[in-house]
Amino acid sequence: MTESPAKWTLVIHGGSGSMTRQRLSKAEDAGARAGLTAALAAGSAILREGGTAIDAVEAAVKVLEDDPHFNAGRGAVFSWEGVNELDAALMDGRTRAAGAVSSVTRTRHPIALARAVMEDGRHVLLSGPGADAFSKEIGCEQVDPAWFALPERRRQLDEIKAGGGFDSAMKYGTVGAVACDAQGHVAAATSTGGLTAKRWGRIGDSPLIGAGTYADDRACAVSCTGAGEVFIRAAAAHEIGARVRMAAEPVADAAAEVIAEIDEMGGMGGVIAVGPRGEGGWAFNTSGMYRGVAREGHDSIVAIYEDEG
Ligand code: ASP
Repeated sequence: MTESPAKWTLVIHGGSGSMTRQRLSKAEDAGARAGLTAALAAGSAILREGGTAIDAVEAAVKVLEDDPHFNAGRGAVFSWEGVNELDAALMDGRTRAAGAVSSVTRTRHPIALARAVMEDGRHVLLSGPGADAFSKEIGCEQVDPAWFALPERRRQLDEIKAGGGFDSAMKYGTVGAVACDAQGHVAAATSTGGLTAKRWGRIGDSPLIGAGTYADDRACAVSCTGAGEVFIRAAAAHEIGARVRMAAEPVADAAAEVIAEIDEMGGMGGVIAVGPRGEGGWAFNTSGMYRGVAREGHDSIVAIYEDEG
């Protein structure tokens, strides 16, 4: 994507991976596009009315969390123990306020819980049973864990546990959104079930501020997807912002540079990034990334494969 200034911009992703036209069924392709379109509509409705970037990214991610096509909320992958443990984070570029949760099991919208952590303000990252308890205490919508659990995800877990051929590169289905609002403020949000068969309380990059999620009005907002361990080591989301802020790199170039770094480190994945003039886009080193963009005065675009959008 090229850098073209816009008053407001919303970029979303639904994960990167080895998606190709041959590998995705027509139904999977159409279902994912419909989900991305609905998420763009929810977020851009807010931005069009003059709403804030932070409200827009939360609204877009909530739609994707409810959509079983993506590995977040309903449709999240299973841990080794057969539990859906959800991670999410969001960050407001105006103040660099941030909130995050990891390994929550009963909150319908982990991104809303991350927002509540941010607004509560005492902490930035809550995890596990404590985060579940905080969620209940503050009245975040609770669901039975069965709400998240889908048979196809269970099958993928069983296949991995049996040492079978589940394609690990297909597993990245994390969702995220970055936005620039009409006031020129940016925000980022990311939500995920993490990796299939994750063990021992593993936490990926998504809920780690600076790794999978970052937003700073002085630079840009970033949400990542992919091999979380490598994104953590690269401090990927912060690194993109640092390149923009300190080396004056265009947002799209900084995103591409950091994906090149991830590639050199042996990681696969993608990022979306947007700056305070609506500049930016996406970069990925996989064959596909579920993604979409809505900008003031432009038609929305959704795309999956490398050669689109
Ligand atoms: N980055 C996520 C994680 O490592 C996975 C993904 O993007 O799907 O938890």
